[in-house]
Amino acid sequence: MEPPDWLASSVTEIPDFPKPGILFRDLSPLWASSSATSRCAMALAADAVGVDAVVGIEARGFLAGMITAQRLGVGFVAARKPGKLAGQVHRVTYDLEYGSDGLEVQVGALDPDQRVMIVDDVLATGGTARAAIELVERCGAAVVDLRFIIELAGLGGRDVLAPHRVLSLWQTGV
Ligand code: AMP
Repeated sequence: MEPPDWLASSVTEIPDFPKPGILFRDLSPLWASSSATSRCAMALAADAVGVDAVVGIEARGFLAGMITAQRLGVGFVAARKPGKLAGQVHRVTYDLEYGSDGLEVQVGALDPDQRVMIVDDVLATGGTARAAIELVERCGAAVVDLRFIIELAGLGGRDVLAPHRVLSLWQTGV
């Protein structure tokens, strides 16, 4: 699908970063533009119903998640890499191509029975967002849907997140 104009002009594609074969989508031009950021917030928050909190995934998901939370008038909760959050945490670990990684949220950051939207900048294989779903559920909260600015549709992340609802502002290849 074609991206909206404000988004197409807000992404720089950088080949072979951070490693050979990856076409990195750099959204720095988006965050540098007040008008594009406003439009992005509106698009990410569109038609959301019954959301009590937004969880954003470290690190660029903090930006996308926070503007969405502000637009919805709800609080923001950071899902961070292990060892970054103070105090007691819930942790979910997940496998990478080589090794493993994890995500944490602070105990008490989400109330049981809260309805949560998960937000990140890019959906690739879906492993990171899948871990965020588990983390939200570990807190006793429920995932309403997951929203991304860019979805690399060829990598199948949407299938990994099923049956949860996934919305992305721009679906592109890999
Ligand atoms: P994944 O777990 O494979 O869905 O990877 C998603 C995470 O990696 C997100 O937090 C993205 O910020 C980042 N990511 C993966 N692929 C790209 C890419 N091509 N360009 C920018 N960020 C990416």
